[in-house]
Amino acid sequence: MECDVLVIGCGPAGLAAAGYSARAGYSVIAIDSLAPGGQLLYIHEIENYPGAGSMSGYALAESFEKQAASFGVRIEFMEAKSITKEGSTFIVTTDSDAIRAKAVIFASGARHRHLGCPGEEEYQGKGVSYCATCDGPFFKGKSIAVVGGGDTALTDALYLSRIGREVHLIHRRDEFRGQKALQDRVRAAGNIILHMNRNVLSINGNGKTVSSLTLTSGEELPADAAFIFVGITPNSELLEGFAELSGGFVVTDSGMRTSVPGLFAAGDVRDTPFRQVVTAAGDGALAAHSADEYIQSLKA
Ligand code: NAP
Repeated sequence: MECDVLVIGCGPAGLAAAGYSARAGYSVIAIDSLAPGGQLLYIHEIENYPGAGSMSGYALAESFEKQAASFGVRIEFMEAKSITKEGSTFIVTTDSDAIRAKAVIFASGARHRHLGCPGEEEYQGKGVSYCATCDGPFFKGKSIAVVGGGDTALTDALYLSRIGREVHLIHRRDEFRGQKALQDRVRAAGNIILHMNRNVLSINGNGKTVSSLTLTSGEELPADAAFIFVGITPNSELLEGFAELSGGFVVTDSGMRTSVPGLFAAGDVRDTPFRQVVTAAGDGALAAHSADEYIQSLKA
């Protein structure tokens, strides 16, 4: 198969990039090994995507997909296995084909690390969350547990402390990994209770909502929600040894250009401080714009 722009990953970043590129007149193939939508498919309700009101992540994913398809994007279910560049042509092999493209937009996303304890999967979307901005407002005035000790756990514990009645911050060591300034703010907040040197053994509830967490100390901590921030893993394995990565995340400039001319990155796989649907879609639009400039420069 051949196209002008190949997009790898069909989450919000990839579908936005694909839609913008197709609308600019390019032939575009967008591939994903799963259903289009990326992490949107796991969000119970999203109410902060500008202009869209409140809807399920699934409905928003469907709307992204339909719009991209209406612009002429060819969406294929296949998994990218390798990437090389011969002259100015990228060759991406997949589990079912090889695709030649003038430019590639890499938007493969990231996966939240999970604790792996009993109850975590069962209560996902019913009190277990990996996104404070997405789900925090559903727990106004409630008791909220936060797990982790990095910048995300500290930043989001502070955010959740403004929404919830109290926040129980559970960390497996006696010191935080996150920035000192954030640690100071966490300690100064009146309603963040620290549970150091503890991990979570199980997340418990009545099948519909979370009611408590059992800790390694033996305590049963009452809580209405468990926000888990124990790091994320970028889906960047394909680019190892091909493009510059930092801690596994793809390094880009402000135009989403990677260290390889003609290769762009967008969304959660990118080295970026804020990961939201709207920022992913914005990255995708910018990547498409830069890919357009790049392809035009090949003709000069
Ligand atoms: P992170 O820095 O990797 O921290 C993950 C935290 O989770 C660590 O405290 C770790 O404990 C803990 N953890 C890992 N696996 C665990 C497990 N199985 N059980 C219990 N705890 C576990 O991840 P992050 O906080 O998501 O941050 C990711 C990157 O984004 C970092 O580079 C961070 O600086 C950046 N970031 C920056 C900002 C900001 O600048 N405002 C905000 C958010 C994120 P240990 O400490 O014991 O390893």
